[in-house]
Amino acid sequence: MTDWQGKRVTVAGLGVSGIPAARVLHGLGAAVTVVNDGDDERARTQAEDLEALGITVRLGDGATLPQGTELIVTTPGWKPDKPLFAAAAEAGVPVWGDVELAWRLRGPDAAPWLAVTGTNGKTTTVQMLASILGAAGLRTAAVGNIGVSLLDVVLGDERYDVLAVELSSYQLHWSPSLRAHSAAVLNLAPDHLDWHGSMEAYAADKGRIYEGNRVACVYNAADKATEDLVREADVEEGCRAVGFTLGTPGPSQLGVVDGILVDRAFVENRQQNAQELAEVSDVSPAAPHNIANALAAAALARAFGVPAAAVRDGLRAFTPDAHRIAHVADVDGVAYIDDSKATNTHAAQASLAAYESIVWIAGGLAKGATFDELVAGAAGRLRGVVLIGADRALIREALTRHAPQVPVVDLDRTDTGAMLAAVREARTLARAGDTVLLAPACASMDMFVNYNKRGDAFAEAVRELSSADG
Ligand code: ADP
Repeated sequence: MTDWQGKRVTVAGLGVSGIPAARVLHGLGAAVTVVNDGDDERARTQAEDLEALGITVRLGDGATLPQGTELIVTTPGWKPDKPLFAAAAEAGVPVWGDVELAWRLRGPDAAPWLAVTGTNGKTTTVQMLASILGAAGLRTAAVGNIGVSLLDVVLGDERYDVLAVELSSYQLHWSPSLRAHSAAVLNLAPDHLDWHGSMEAYAADKGRIYEGNRVACVYNAADKATEDLVREADVEEGCRAVGFTLGTPGPSQLGVVDGILVDRAFVENRQQNAQELAEVSDVSPAAPHNIANALAAAALARAFGVPAAAVRDGLRAFTPDAHRIAHVADVDGVAYIDDSKATNTHAAQASLAAYESIVWIAGGLAKGATFDELVAGAAGRLRGVVLIGADRALIREALTRHAPQVPVVDLDRTDTGAMLAAVREARTLARAGDTVLLAPACASMDMFVNYNKRGDAFAEAVRELSSADG
């Protein structure tokens, strides 16, 4: 569909991706109708702005397919089981997400895409990748689900040699023709299952990222499900499966040997069978899951031909985003770590695995998760636990089952002052050498606007505590 003049396109949903998509399509000459379930004040203001441009907006009815629709462009949050999509399927109308639209408009011409998905670690890995590509002197940007619209980037004036693209499972679901240069699935654990319908459907959507890859499909050797997705993918001839492992790498893998990140898949000097990339201490924070992220980023960069030295320089230059295993302070020999971004059990498991003796602050909205595996795995390293938030009983019950010896303080509060109380309790439980770790394994919205605010509240509480001493 290259001639947009007069094409009747329905955009499903306003919001951060619907509004830009509607504007772009209108600018191309399409006849755009935006449909939106909600009809609140915010939606009305947004609708007025679009209507002023000549875009039709229908509020309060996202279910009915507008007459004559030839294409739907949906915001990624819209669930596939919505009636609008059933109507589209019946009428033979294709559905694209905003990433698909960016790809179709100018994706392959703007720059090759190195794409990353996975349940956890996407943002970190994409930022590491962009840092490595930048260290190699390439013009690049970290884009996509990371909060930078692909539409803006591919249609903008800036020129790029390569893009580091974060893709969510939602975006992949709605991107049928996307073809990356190389792609990585970092890991797969149950998440967003209410949206996808099942673990199989979730995995299949993640696996879409490998379709049509030209150079490398990067998988996690410790997570067989990611390797299975590579096997099932239809890739270009010559495209290779490249694994990453925290152990000694096999011939087509990147891994770790004696504290050194090494590459055995893309060796520069053919006399050697492995290339040294960087030291574990070059990765910040040097927690196991983050070394895995660094290896995945390195694999994608190496697939693009980046030299080993740039991997090291890029990793050294990288600083993690806030609230991802951020060291807040040491108080009385106890380290206080903010991993508020650990909003699901898989992420919390990774950060709990990174410390020896932990006072764990957890709880919030569980999103249907179960906590038995997480608690059983961490039980031996828990000095104590402080529970906050709406669904804390679920974690408390798992603790009773798998860690009955661990002292638990159950703070029956969801008010904003609860974090200060939680940090105080954690301090009482901790001994010198311990780590107080905020890794809630839950979403934050029962108590905070988002995980950023939750992490800020934690850091604020720690500061209050330490300055009260001084
Ligand atoms: P995403 O963009 O996929 O949400 P982030 O890089 O923002 O990932 O990290 C989200 C959370 O997951 C953080 O709490 C972090 O500690 C944890 N995490 C990061 N990388 C991994 C990994 N490879 N495996 C498990 N958990 C991880």
